[in-house]
Formats: sequence, C-alpha cells, structure tokens
Amino acid sequence: MERTYLIKPALDEEYPIVSYGKGVYLYDLDGKQYLDASSGAVTANIGHGVEEIIEAMKEQSEKISFVYRSQFSSEPAEKLAEKIALSTPGDLNWSFFVNSGSEATETAMKVAIQYWQEKGFPLKSKILSRWVSYHGITLGALSMSGHPGRRSRFVPLLADFPNVSPPYCYRCPFNQTPESCKYECAQELDTALSRIGPESVAAFIAEPIVGAAGGCITPPKGYYKKVKEICETHNVLFIADEVMTGFGRTGTMLASEHWGIIPDIVCLGKGMGAGYAPIAATVVSEKVMEPIMSGSKQIMSGHTLSANPQSAAVALAVMEYLENNNLFADVDSKGIYLKNLIEKLRVQYPFIGDIRGKGLLLGLEFVEDRETKQSFSKEFNVTSRLVKIAQSLGLLVYPASAGLDGTSGDAIIIAPPLTITKREIEELVRLLESSMVQLKQELV
Ligand code: PLP
Repeated sequence: MERTYLIKPALDEEYPIVSYGKGVYLYDLDGKQYLDASSGAVTANIGHGVEEIIEAMKEQSEKISFVYRSQFSSEPAEKLAEKIALSTPGDLNWSFFVNSGSEATETAMKVAIQYWQEKGFPLKSKILSRWVSYHGITLGALSMSGHPGRRSRFVPLLADFPNVSPPYCYRCPFNQTPESCKYECAQELDTALSRIGPESVAAFIAEPIVGAAGGCITPPKGYYKKVKEICETHNVLFIADEVMTGFGRTGTMLASEHWGIIPDIVCLGKGMGAGYAPIAATVVSEKVMEPIMSGSKQIMSGHTLSANPQSAAVALAVMEYLENNNLFADVDSKGIYLKNLIEKLRVQYPFIGDIRGKGLLLGLEFVEDRETKQSFSKEFNVTSRLVKIAQSLGLLVYPASAGLDGTSGDAIIIAPPLTITKREIEELVRLLESSMVQLKQELV
C-alpha cells in the first residue's frame, strides 16, 4: 500500500477513491459503479449530485458562508428553524443547530439538565438510556450509548448511563413472544426510575428505531406510548434521538409519529444535510424552553460553526427538495416492496435470521441457526465479510452490531436514498443476492 497520511477507519485496508455520485450511484476513480443502498451512513437521503442543492450551495456561498452566532443570525438559519417547527408535531418549535448527531444528542442532554436546574431541581442530572443503542461518539453522547464496542476503551471516563433493556423482539430480553408481551422492557424503565430515584434523573433518551447498535430494532406497537407515560409519571423528560430516523427515513418527518408520541426534545442529523453539509439540530419543545426563556435566557452550549448560513441553506434546500418531490409519500410503499423482495431471499439463505425496520430503514440480522437464533462465531466476521463482498460487487450496505450484549450478533442496514426507483430497488436486491451467494460459499 502506498504511504497515506489520512487516518481511515481501518488503517490496514485500502479504500476506493470516490470520483462522483449521481442519484443512488457512486463512481470511483476507476469508473466502477456502486449502488448506495445505505445512503452512506443513512445520510444521503435524497441521493447524490442533486442539482437543486448544488445551486443552493452556490447561491449561499456567493452571499455569506459563515457568521458567528453571537454576532449575527442569518436568513437561512431563521427560515430553517421555522420550517422545522412547522414540520414537527406538537410544540417542538425551537431549534439549536450543531454540526453532527453527537453534538445534537449531547446538547439535548445538556438542555434537559438545564431545564430542571432552571425549574429549581438542580439534582435532576442523570440521563437514562438503553443498552443496544448509539447516540454518538463524544464523551457525553457515548455515556448515553449502550454500544460496548464503541464504549469499551473509554469506560472510565463515561458517566454510567445505560440502564434498561432495548425493545429487541427478535431476542426478547424477557423471553416473551409478541403474543405474551406485556411491554416488560418499558416496565423496566419504570423500575429503574423508582430504584435510581426520579429526583436525580433529568431525561430518558432512545432511538425510535435502533440503528448502528442493533440493526434497525423496531419496538412493538405500544412501547413508546408506555415509555412516554412512564417518563411523565416520574417527571422525567423524553428525548427522541431521531438522528438516523428523522427527515422522512421512515415516511414521516419523525419516526416518533408512527407511535403517536411527541417527545420533549428531538435530535436530528444525518439526513438533515443529506451529506451535502455537516448540520444537525436539537429541537426543543415550548414546555422545555419556557423556564429557560423566563430564567437564564440562554442555552449553555454552542459551537463555532453552529447555525452557519452555508449549512443552514443546504438543510433548507434539502427540506424543500423533499417537499417539492413529495418524497415522504412513497417511502412506505418502497420500503414494503424492498422488504418483500428481501423476504424472498430467506428461502435460499437460511442465515437470514430477521428482517426488520420501517420505511426505507431496514435491518437484516444473520444467524448460524435460524431455529435457535444462535449467532455466528466472531471468527467468521460475517458482517464485515458481507459488507466487503457487497462492495466488491458494487453494492454499499451499512454494518451494524447485533445481539443482546451488543457484540455477539451480525447485522446490516439497508437504507437507500428515498429517491430510489422500483427498478433500482430490484437491482439492489439482485446485488444483495449475489453477495449472499458468495457469503454462503465462504461460510461452508
Ligand atoms: N444518534 C444516532 C441514532 C446515530 O445513528 C448517530 C450516528 O450514527 C449519532 C447519534 C451520531 O451522529 P454523528 O455520527 O453525526 O455524530
């Protein structure tokens, strides 16, 4: 390998160098085509090379790209905040713009703590979260994340937040079936709050659908209603980490909408800039803003590039593109079409254990034995093997952890741009099947 100065994810591997992207396809410098079935890291929600976004970027950069938020506000940032307020349910009206999902969840954590301080409850400072979750890589966000692989090196520095089990129906932590389920996993939150003492807890954070840590773990129908009720009973805020699920990934602006709940704080990222600019947001309800507005009048957070006009203009253009092309409308039917085609692969590929998710956010969990749900031994490296095979065949899928311990299982996420066509979905599944054929050969 030639000398490189760029720190890449795996230092002993070579990565193709991208040349350009158009729609759901990426092309490397050798001209090889890749179907982007994961939107990168579930980010390129409207596909690559969209002219309208390029135009908006150009237009904004000709005016002003950067101002510091304590000196100026900007039209794109003001308009974006207004559009988010109008597009989200309930009183989720206030946006704090940051640059990444990790910053959005970390800000949410701080806003929740500040809310209780301003209301006169300074001891309410713990954030409860779930195992098999991922909320970001910075220390606050990682403290909330139940992702052993990403935590392990830094555990001494982390606040010990994850407390409760995930709603992982395929491997129910309470050995229930859909028929016998009484939402024991939600009930566990109630028990945890009683044990810890709600007087020390500021909020509970959860991903509506667990992404990287669990391969699209989707809760049973009444789970979030119950969780929200439990939070309200104990006077604890509910933060929805919609960094992966927001902006139409599951067919609605927020995935929370599917379960009829309105969180107190929402974290957005990824699809917000759709990969065209780094931008994320912590969206705060009127309820949470009220004591801050009448108290210190300042959210104690901020980054140099928070709310910069360039990124805000991009996110605004992305929202307009989603709207003008009515892209949320077809997510459900496209997702069902994709899921049904993948279901057909189950017959020939017994290592497909579970297919789950919602809209265009699907997860596949792989098992050695479908009957017992026994995962593959680590030495097979099933996830990374499949991701590599797929990439070699021109298909990009996203690796995820799986298993109740967050390390023992194998999963991938399939989340193509929302713009994907029926023909492209069929091509995706053909490439996925070719990848499975090769995986099957390698596993015998
Ligand atoms: N929250 C969720 C649900 C995520 O999936 C991620 C990233 O994968 C993050 C937070 C962190 O976002 P970022 O990588 O932009 O910091």
